[in-house]
Amino acid sequence: METLRNLTTVQAREAREAFGTPLYVYSANALETQAKRALAFPNAFGLTVRYAMKASPNAAILKRFTALGLHIDASSGFEVRRALTAGVPAGNISLSTQEMPEFFAELHAAGIKFNACSLAQLERFGQLFPGQACGVRFNPGLGSGGTGKTNVGGPHSSFGIWHEWADQVETIAAKYELTIERIHTHIGSGSDPEVWARVSVMSLDLVRRFKDVTTLDLGGGFKVGRMADEQSTDLQVIGQPVKEAFEQLAAETGRKIHLEIEPGTFLLANTCSLVATAQDIVSTGGPDGREFIKLDSGMTEILRPSLYAAQHPIVVIPASETTETEDYLVAGHCCESGDVLTVGADDPESLQPRTLTKAAPGDLVVIEGAGAYCSAMSAKNYNSFPEAAEAMLTQDGTLKLIRRRQTLEQILQNEVCED
Ligand SMILES: *Cc1c(COP(=O)(O)O)cnc(C)c1O
Repeated sequence: METLRNLTTVQAREAREAFGTPLYVYSANALETQAKRALAFPNAFGLTVRYAMKASPNAAILKRFTALGLHIDASSGFEVRRALTAGVPAGNISLSTQEMPEFFAELHAAGIKFNACSLAQLERFGQLFPGQACGVRFNPGLGSGGTGKTNVGGPHSSFGIWHEWADQVETIAAKYELTIERIHTHIGSGSDPEVWARVSVMSLDLVRRFKDVTTLDLGGGFKVGRMADEQSTDLQVIGQPVKEAFEQLAAETGRKIHLEIEPGTFLLANTCSLVATAQDIVSTGGPDGREFIKLDSGMTEILRPSLYAAQHPIVVIPASETTETEDYLVAGHCCESGDVLTVGADDPESLQPRTLTKAAPGDLVVIEGAGAYCSAMSAKNYNSFPEAAEAMLTQDGTLKLIRRRQTLEQILQNEVCED
């Protein structure tokens, strides 16, 4: 059975007492540990680590990472504004986006860095800012992700400029006298470490071709095991051949390329626990009968199981200690059949009972591994459930609220009623 990661049972109870459930609790210690590991990524000629803020964009996290020396990777113009609002210096923010914001000129004036992610984006940048410098995101032709949906490289992915269109990049750059100063590749989340390293070396071929490039950004995508039996990427291992490839390039060409990486999952995945309450225990009859724990949470806080068949540790904290266990399906509170946390590992449509501590209504149930793409990417407000609160377990062991629970009034505030 899985066990608690960052909270003690006492702290989990205190968290519910103080702020109610469902509640995300981030660990400041765990955030710092992961930031330091990322900052130790092997590199030959300097490293910038950008936190891919879409993983979890709360200002408290952005500020903490900024203080630790991380920069920011933003995926939309609104994320850039959010980072600026949190006090991140504009020069520390780079934007790689599917949709270039209407207010792009304002962000550029503030001093952010930009990676054009399509030929049309590069053309638009050239029209707006001829003679200036930007980066280009390429799709290196090879991808790797934990699932088909998290793979963002290769011919079936729309992310970045297809590597064979490099000549068109050169044409557009020449037309507007743009300096291509950065090349960016990001191939997916939960990548196979071997594929990641191979793509990194391929990316250096693009650097060879674009002579003004001084920085190569290899994106994120480092796989993190959430379940105890899942493997995590060792950055020291995958970074070593990349470092050597940078050195090789320098030996051949004299170009000392700066490395950037953009982890989201790696920095956040195991730093947060979603604290929920068992609302009800129900069973179905017959030979296929099952026991269900129904939570006061679910896809409104954690969508990854339904979306990707992602596996998250689930820990029942009973009111009084027991060694009794039971096989459960754990369901969320939405009136939606897909709102189940215990899905089979390969298929979000399938159900896979888990052996958990025997639960009763009112027991705490903690979902671990809830830091990346949980609070940030959920079925928010479905069934009109208010957005959950977020808290930080600080380094001195105190719990601080970092986002209040939403109210029904806030859900309704933009509705326009005629009568
Ligand atoms: C999402 C994203 C990342 C982070 O990916 P993880 O798998 O969370 O590490 C990095 N760079 C870009 C451009 C992204 O879109």
